[in-house]
Amino acid sequence: MFKALLVEKDEGGATRASVQELDDDRLPEGEVTVAVEYSTLNYKDGLCIGPGGGLVRQYPHVPGIDFSGTVETSDDPRYAPGDKVILTGWRVGEAHWGGYATRARVKADWLVPLPEALSARDAMAVGTAGLTAMLAVMALERHGLRTGQGPVLVTGAAGGVGSVATAILASLGHEVAAVTGRPETEDYLRDLGAASIVARSELNETTKKPLESERWAGCVDAVGGAMLARVLGQMNYGASVAAVGLAGGADLPAKVIPFLLRGVNLLGIDSVMQPYDNRVAAWDRIARDLPMEKLRAMIRPARLDDLPALGAEILNGQVRGRVVVDVA
Ligand code: NDP
Repeated sequence: MFKALLVEKDEGGATRASVQELDDDRLPEGEVTVAVEYSTLNYKDGLCIGPGGGLVRQYPHVPGIDFSGTVETSDDPRYAPGDKVILTGWRVGEAHWGGYATRARVKADWLVPLPEALSARDAMAVGTAGLTAMLAVMALERHGLRTGQGPVLVTGAAGGVGSVATAILASLGHEVAAVTGRPETEDYLRDLGAASIVARSELNETTKKPLESERWAGCVDAVGGAMLARVLGQMNYGASVAAVGLAGGADLPAKVIPFLLRGVNLLGIDSVMQPYDNRVAAWDRIARDLPMEKLRAMIRPARLDDLPALGAEILNGQVRGRVVVDVA
């Protein structure tokens, strides 16, 4: 038997999530069975715990797009019982049963080894949000971002991706400007290393001007929408924006002028189908460049029972930093 947060759908289409004991024979197919220790909470998890958002393929469903734990059994030569592993992405927790359980069965291709410098709990304080933040920073670096070029903007800064991006960039020596709609998070963002705070209201209104004064040497954007359009017109010559999220909307009401007259780059970041080698490289960079004591300070601990309420909170934009779920 194992314990899981099971989401069931009634005939009227309403979903209900509750913690239940399930038989092992209900686990899906896969080469590796993992004793899950920790999971976390992302915006997508909020959708999969609640309304589904078109992500969940079949009910009953076990959400949880991220997990860390120890291999129990493996039919794949790459993993052996006792190995510490991480899983993020690959539509686990959406199309496949995920990490809100004490046991998970998955494809070996989806796992990465836990870096030695990280604990299973640290890894879930990072989670998809932190991995995505690191992938965004790596993409900005590949396109020429170096310290000393000026302030780097992080939008949605008090959220999961934004918090980790702020901590990584600051620890690398960048001057981070953190955009938030929650002024009460200023101390939190400064503790993570933000050098300045930009009010959301300053950037979420559209302007008719396709170009404004050059302000930013780079940007990790978790918001999209009108804010991303506005930020494109404020980037330094040749600078890049890593587009990570759509917390403010999926539209991009922008002009192409910043690309043509300032050589601005818009870099797409996907964590879900990210190839294995780049994932491992990103986790290695996380182990090296993310100050773990800062990360631990942003952890909000939770249990499986807390997830229905937390899922609603993240959909309402009320979660700060990183939730770590102790599934035991
Ligand atoms: P969170 O909900 O933790 O953070 C999002 C933050 O965005 C909020 O905390 C808030 O920050 C800000 N925000 C929310 N609503 C608005 C709005 N209407 N206008 C402007 N800002 C807003 O989510 P995550 O950090 O986990 O994810 C952020 C985004 O990245 C999501 O859209 C998610 O789907 C996407 N994502 C993409 C991935 C990929 O592979 N590309 C992987 C992971 C996430 P504040 O309170 O500071 O203003």
